[in-house]
Amino acid sequence: MQINLVSDTVTKPSYEMLQYMFNAEVGDDVYKEDPTVNELEDRVAAVFGMEAGLFFPSGTMANQTAIKLHTQPGDQLIADKYAHVYHFEAGGVSFNSGVSCCLLDGNRGMISANQIASAINNPDFFHSPLTSLVCLENTTNIGGGACYEMEELGKIKKVCEANNLKLHLDGARIWNALVAKRQNPKDFGRIFDTISVCFSKGLGAPVGSVLLGDKQTIKRALRVRKVLGGAMRQSGYLAAGALYALENNIKLLTEDHRRAKELANVLKKKSWVASVEPVETNILIFTLAPEYSEEAFVEKLKQKNISISVIGNRKLRIVTHLDYREVMHTYVIEILSKM
Ligand SMILES: *Cc1c(COP(=O)(O)O)cnc(C)c1O
Repeated sequence: MQINLVSDTVTKPSYEMLQYMFNAEVGDDVYKEDPTVNELEDRVAAVFGMEAGLFFPSGTMANQTAIKLHTQPGDQLIADKYAHVYHFEAGGVSFNSGVSCCLLDGNRGMISANQIASAINNPDFFHSPLTSLVCLENTTNIGGGACYEMEELGKIKKVCEANNLKLHLDGARIWNALVAKRQNPKDFGRIFDTISVCFSKGLGAPVGSVLLGDKQTIKRALRVRKVLGGAMRQSGYLAAGALYALENNIKLLTEDHRRAKELANVLKKKSWVASVEPVETNILIFTLAPEYSEEAFVEKLKQKNISISVIGNRKLRIVTHLDYREVMHTYVIEILSKM
């Protein structure tokens, strides 16, 4: 039994999901003639109460497209210091859009309306880059699966409106936030100009993200996606995996969250653990007491067939997911408890 807790991206499509994909009706999506892709885009847009959606091969491409749509070269965007759009998209912000990032020192990957307000460059001071976009992440990745309060998001929206800034949500794990905080997706749809959502993380589909926005924005997104090489043909087979996930797997996220909390509770009791960050969803970040090495610890777990990751700054990360089953969980708890 190999247990991979490195990321929620490691899941493989279940037999039922593959069966659903196998039976998908497909067409050429470059001509917008794939009924399954069209259905997915409409369904996801409806969930968030937004006008339109566009299917992407990756979350990175969906985020990068949004940034391109909301900025001009030379502009600046505001994000948290841990933001995926800054750290893990290979410099795409500057490569694709010619934009710089103003990174804020947020709380577990979340930035506040006040922080944003004080980071906006004076648009009349032509020496500075023009601030034109705010990118938020929910849940946060390196921030440890933290979720924004709707109230704070409302305040951030007000700051953006008052300063003529667009607001994008990197919602790779928005499903986890919706479940954990019992939030209404339509509230997110009202606040954000664009939202990218992912199907190949907690929801367990093999491939795919959807970018949401108003009709005009998504029409422009079609050209950017084409430029980036993301226009696909019979992608309905992939969209079917996402549709299956939307229908069946959202409710299973509560199990991932419960298991992450239970692992955190085991770690908190251990003398070799220095700190455990709060667990709100499926990501658990912790540090070891100073005398222990992260690499040696990871290697020790590996010998027990358990993989976890080192994410820098002495932090270790565990991510629970659909393919992390109860038998595995029982085993991991036993191993950690004995260490
Ligand atoms: C995984 C992830 C993405 C997108 O990643 P892809 O691997 O390109 O699909 C974007 N934002 C966050 C926060 C993520 O965790």
